[in-house]
Amino acid sequence: MPDQINVLFLAAEADPFVKIGGLGDVAGSLPHALRAIGDVDIRLCLPFHGAIQRQAYDLYRVATFNIPHTTGNIRAEALRTEINGLPVYLIAGPPIPADAPVYSSDNLTDGHKFTFFSLAALELARQIDWKPDIIHANDWHTAPAIYALHSTRDSFFLNAALLLGLHNLPYLGVGAGPALAGFGLQPARGSALPVWAQDMPLPLGLLGADHIVAASPSYAREILLPEHGSGLHEFLATRALSISGILNGIDIQKWNPESDQDIKSNFSTEPLHIRQENKKTLQDEFALESDPNHLLLVMISRLDPQKGVDLVPEAMHQISSLPWQLIILGTGAPSLENAVRNLEAEYPARVRAAIRFDSVLSHRMYAGADALLIPSRYEPCGLTQMIAMRYGCVPIARATGGLKDTIRDLDRSKKGSGFLFQQATATGLAAALRRAIQAYPDKIKWGALQMEGMKQDFSWIRFARQYIKLYKKMINGKTKHDLV
Ligand code: ADP
Repeated sequence: MPDQINVLFLAAEADPFVKIGGLGDVAGSLPHALRAIGDVDIRLCLPFHGAIQRQAYDLYRVATFNIPHTTGNIRAEALRTEINGLPVYLIAGPPIPADAPVYSSDNLTDGHKFTFFSLAALELARQIDWKPDIIHANDWHTAPAIYALHSTRDSFFLNAALLLGLHNLPYLGVGAGPALAGFGLQPARGSALPVWAQDMPLPLGLLGADHIVAASPSYAREILLPEHGSGLHEFLATRALSISGILNGIDIQKWNPESDQDIKSNFSTEPLHIRQENKKTLQDEFALESDPNHLLLVMISRLDPQKGVDLVPEAMHQISSLPWQLIILGTGAPSLENAVRNLEAEYPARVRAAIRFDSVLSHRMYAGADALLIPSRYEPCGLTQMIAMRYGCVPIARATGGLKDTIRDLDRSKKGSGFLFQQATATGLAAALRRAIQAYPDKIKWGALQMEGMKQDFSWIRFARQYIKLYKKMINGKTKHDLV
């Protein structure tokens, strides 16, 4: 075991360079948390997307080299910078044009870009003569790095263990196969993968990885089932001993009700009643009756079928006689945006639709609402429930993936922190809402729920320690299912 673990961390996006979704949060936070714990020389490698503000970083070139392609060599350039002590490499080259979005709607184009990036990131390590002990790739975009080393391993990478982080299984990289082949990564014919998946980047990464780490322990188990396996459950079952789950953390400095500059009244558990001022402010802002007895519900979410948004209107109809108010903040599928607007039209006195992305408003909502709705069909990890709990906003969520791992149901645990329901149906959601509305008038009971959530530790440091344990086990050659 080396004294220091060298980790090459590959991602398509990372905050603050460029952030599109949850992966950007993870790649922007986890490497810092790992460095803070010590004994890990982790280096982040990103494509030099046009959206990255060149002038915001002190960049210098560390290497230029060729990546072989069937059409001829493609020149790559690697630039280095540092952010709070973390070395970051940005890879530039013709497949990563400055005017292209981070993700396009065409997986073939993206496959070309990200395969080039993945192979260039490996070549960079060789060029600077820095031997990684762990290659930590994430999702389909950087899975080609895993498959490339699985297919051909030269002496430089001989001891590198291959870890694939899985943040959203359904994004397999369908259609990117020819792009991989262009870089010499041939389909895994005759492998344990189903035939239809043998040229797709994510399945190839899942095949080649020494270990697969899903975004929560429950999601790690759920992907082995037909319902959540995206057609790969039988293959994944063959890899079950090499799959585990580690939750994502949240940035506890940014999400801190005691110091949050975006909310009216800062608060903590002592005394929690100050929080009521934020509820009143939120009700006033949305011209809702400021009756403290109404359970003020919010939803802060991408409006996507994954998030179960379509269950909400019917569930609200089922409990229309009860005292609740609802504000939904989100953007996404036009049909779901319309469904949310229609709900507002149906209940003009108590539903509000904020169809936009508004980070500052989200802070006021977490700080002022009584409860957060998260009726997800599947949820690899989920961050909103953790943020909500930190702000004393009680989650009402479907018992799936990371939601199940972070929320304890009031009726099933003395240390309940929220309400969980099993079936992804409007009736299931309505039943959980009814329980919450019944519990709400009992201020002692509700206060205990809030306190339980607020005292949870969802900091990155906690989960980074689990990653270090995993890295060490991988380096020792042990990657058993139950190791974290
Ligand atoms: P996912 O990554 O699947 O979208 P997560 O729960 O992991 O879901 O993370 C969602 C993040 O995006 C949270 O920080 C949430 O507050 C934020 N968010 C989602 N929709 C909006 C919105 N419309 N406005 C502001 N923030 C939003």
